Amino acid sequence: MRILAINPWIVDFAAYDFWLKPYGFLVLLTYLKQKNIEIDYIDCLDKKIKKDNLGRGKYYWQIIPKPEILKDIPRKFKRYGISIEEFKLKIKDKKPDLILITSSMTYWYLGIKEVEKILKENFNSLPKILGGVYPMLVPEHAKKTFPSFYIFSSSLEKFFSFLNIPFDNYQFYTTLPAYENFYNNLDYVVLRTSWGCPFNCSFCAIKKLFPSFLRLPKKKTVDFILKYYQKGIKNFVLYDDAFLYPQEEAKELLKEIKKLNLDVKIHTPNALHLRFLDQELAYLLKECGFFNPHFGLETLNPTLQKKWGDKVNKEELIRSIKYLKKAGFKEGEFSVYLLLGFPQQDLEELKKDIEFLHHQGVKVSLAEYSPTPGTKLFENYRKELEEPLLHNNSIFYFFNKKLKEIFEIKNFTRQLNKKFYQ
Ligand code: SF4
Repeated sequence: MRILAINPWIVDFAAYDFWLKPYGFLVLLTYLKQKNIEIDYIDCLDKKIKKDNLGRGKYYWQIIPKPEILKDIPRKFKRYGISIEEFKLKIKDKKPDLILITSSMTYWYLGIKEVEKILKENFNSLPKILGGVYPMLVPEHAKKTFPSFYIFSSSLEKFFSFLNIPFDNYQFYTTLPAYENFYNNLDYVVLRTSWGCPFNCSFCAIKKLFPSFLRLPKKKTVDFILKYYQKGIKNFVLYDDAFLYPQEEAKELLKEIKKLNLDVKIHTPNALHLRFLDQELAYLLKECGFFNPHFGLETLNPTLQKKWGDKVNKEELIRSIKYLKKAGFKEGEFSVYLLLGFPQQDLEELKKDIEFLHHQGVKVSLAEYSPTPGTKLFENYRKELEEPLLHNNSIFYFFNKKLKEIFEIKNFTRQLNKKFYQ
């Protein structure tokens, strides 16, 4: 069997390659390849015009018409990644038996529409399967919007039995992507050493996407890092949602990575848990090359902390800052995420929290809030946000009356963070 596998374009007001790879899709394709399935892979995002020394970068983009529902947003709407012509050229000589399309954010589904249109012209009679986060979170919308696609929104067992390929859950989730089969050039590699998270925060859809928790065998992770280091990769990006959990297993893994003694940078865009950090772990993070480690905080308001999932409190934050500094992370060399723009947010309180964190030597990364389908907080918006384009975190706060204050907070945070480099 020969499969054409496609990671569609992002269509949005803004997009940047903050180490963005369709990780689950690459695991799936690697697994299929191990079962002797032939794969032709197209990543529509594989075109950048500028890169930084950490592997991140600006995508090539083209302005496209704004959807009617977003017409009042005073920003340009763009398609990010390769051009339509480049895509057509890539599929020109392909002779697949089946087409797989993945997806990510629900509000990027118009990128899949572009793919659908071209596939109709070229492979109209072939079966096409759409999977990934979008149909898992809003299956009914996906079915309605893509009637010619088979929508895969449930268990992997069903998907594999549809393809008539044997499936082993453990083998699947302990597979790490074989990037060399899918990319000619790599600026970084993404990996997971675990799947899932022990918490269940009310703004996060993790339980819907991966309800249980599983850690990969240490040897797999260590071999993977070594393999790509030997291929010249210096930036490794952890997609784990709970890398430090359980602590003892995280320590064992980090000790193995430390033994490799590699000159690498390890990034944690999905955040680490402050609650699980102790002094030994802080030393290990420093010694293994964790670069500007990010931690999930979201808010310093104790009532909201409890209400949203009770994953951290101020005491744990202060304790962790001490551990990190003692381990050798200087002021401004570690960050916390704070949520910005959620309804009824007290922006004065947020500003004070940002100041407090700055004085503790912590860099603040503001994560723009938007309600994610499948989360408790989304329930309050179910009716208003039926259209996935409105789930977009770069526009959610445009509906917020405190637009000016939100821009001021962003600017204020930027200025404070800059001070760490002066
Ligand atoms: S701790 Fe992070 S990954 Fe886990 S449920 Fe909360 S937000 Fe999601």
